[in-house]
Amino acid sequence: MTNENMLKTLKTYFGYTGFRPLQEEIISTILQKKDTLALMPTGGGKSICFQLPALMTEGTAIVISPLISLMKDQVEALQANGIPAYAINSANDETTNLQLKQACLQGKVKLLYISPERLLGEINFLLRDIRISLFAIDEAHCISQWGHDFRLEYTQLKSLRKFFPDVPIVALTATADKITRKDIIRQLDMRDPKVFISSFDRPNLSLEVRRGYQQKEKIRTISRFILRHRNESGIIYCMTRKGTEKVAELLSKEGFRVAVYHAGMSNAAREQAQDDFINDRIQIVCATIAFGMGIDKSNVRWVIHYNLPKSIESFYQEIGRAGRDGLPGETLLFYSLSDIILLTRFADESGQQEINMEKLNRMQQYAESDICRRRILLNYFGETMDHDCGNCDVCKNPPERFDGTIIVQKALSAMMRTEQNVGIHTLIDILKGFSTQEVLEKGYHNLKTFAAGRDVPTKDWRDYLLQMLNLGYFEIAYNENNHLKITEAGRKVLFGHERAWLVVIKREEHGNRTEKKKAKSPTATEAALFSEASREENLFETLRLLRKRLADQQAIPPYIVLSDKTLRLICERKPVTPDEFGEISGIGEFKKARYGEEFTQAIRRFLQKG
Ligand code: ADP
Ligand code: ZN
Repeated sequence: MTNENMLKTLKTYFGYTGFRPLQEEIISTILQKKDTLALMPTGGGKSICFQLPALMTEGTAIVISPLISLMKDQVEALQANGIPAYAINSANDETTNLQLKQACLQGKVKLLYISPERLLGEINFLLRDIRISLFAIDEAHCISQWGHDFRLEYTQLKSLRKFFPDVPIVALTATADKITRKDIIRQLDMRDPKVFISSFDRPNLSLEVRRGYQQKEKIRTISRFILRHRNESGIIYCMTRKGTEKVAELLSKEGFRVAVYHAGMSNAAREQAQDDFINDRIQIVCATIAFGMGIDKSNVRWVIHYNLPKSIESFYQEIGRAGRDGLPGETLLFYSLSDIILLTRFADESGQQEINMEKLNRMQQYAESDICRRRILLNYFGETMDHDCGNCDVCKNPPERFDGTIIVQKALSAMMRTEQNVGIHTLIDILKGFSTQEVLEKGYHNLKTFAAGRDVPTKDWRDYLLQMLNLGYFEIAYNENNHLKITEAGRKVLFGHERAWLVVIKREEHGNRTEKKKAKSPTATEAALFSEASREENLFETLRLLRKRLADQQAIPPYIVLSDKTLRLICERKPVTPDEFGEISGIGEFKKARYGEEFTQAIRRFLQKG
């Protein structure tokens, strides 16, 4: 099979003009009927790796996928490109499933999606009656107990090789360490498989961390963040169910379209939230980690972590849901002392204390990093990166340190004078000189350090104390009401033997004020550029609404009609004939025929208005 043919099929059906890293190699291997294991990050483009060979080979490809929503998404995307793909599952009525099988017998189905639990029941049908081109096992890590998402049903896939010795097996996953990888190969009984591991880097995702914010400041920061992402979908991950509800309530009050998603809701309510999000009826989901696995929405433009996640694995998987289409995705992580206190308790009670504490520590190191954050992430996944990324807050705005010895001494001294019997809130009250009930009851207002830190704003104290914790100057006694205990390293600073270097706190208010000032008096060029940009935005908005209308007519999500990336390209190139429209990346023959006229008409109208 020549390369030419692969490219031609890619363009005809998917409208793309080139392959992503490793796709071409993987596809060639599958076309040679070899077993293949492909590891790619979320958004890396795994689906095309088996969909293209399915289209280029006689017979039907059987795709095994763990969730009905994932099957639905892929089947809709394929059908939207005019490809005969269907799913047999419990969501269909049996007549539909029968008709489907009939179509398979007639060789009319190129890809058939099926759940693992259903597979064995259908084995006779598959064995006897249809010609199978390949088996694709999506989310293959689910077969392994070592993976983080083991599913018992997946173990049934062991028998595939026995029943179908000659059909190539393709296993795909976004998360598999060495043990899981071996386990997948062994359990599926793969024959001398070719293993492809692509880089886990997602350069289009920006990375940013904010330290020590309280609820009010977080919400203010989030609203500003969302205003920069008008009409763009995003997810806010919170640690608790209550957290999701609170954040959703606060954001709704500000007029944002928000839904909540967590495991405590009814199935129906969760499905509704997911469906509204996928179809762009709401802009934001406030969710616990329960959300995300079942969706392939390619135009999630941002992900915020309202709390620190428990490990880098979870974090990376969650931010990975942004920017699957390759366009920029913005991510923001908040982390505060109370997160650490709570997560430490969870880790303590988890029964795997050591491992979970280690994971949490690595997560904290990431949040506290002085060096390029992407280097830390990739390093964690065993990749080395030889340059800074330029797309994280550390690269863009390297932290500056100052001699903070006096600040640290004030805090440690206050800790000492309370005989190390206070938690963080009371300590700050003492430093600020707030006469709260506890302070008065315990007589802390008589301490020499009372109000010694009144010149430092409360929120800065929270930040500095978090830095001090991470520098190892004190510890939190989780089993003693979270009281603060000075360490050996802390003593050295307290008694003047060593100096403490703290990071200068930068708050975004400063930036904003100057921006506002600037906005008052734009120069003539600025004004011209601005009006040109807003004209472009108008066109994009018009096209976005057209896409939404076409999606609603067919009851499919807008990003399946056209991805954000394709929509951006249309906006840039402004095709005025269906042929020009068809040249744009992401438009195959089918979409060209179906949408070409309407989109180019909208553009012609826009251009006429001048
Ligand atoms: P994964 O399953 O690895 O998360 P997908 O298969 O869903 O990723 O692909 C992510 C996005 O990238 C989809 O919108 C897909 O259409 C797009 N894509 C895949 N391959 C290419 C390619 N060669 N060129 C352009 N876009 C691609
Ligand atoms: Zn960086």
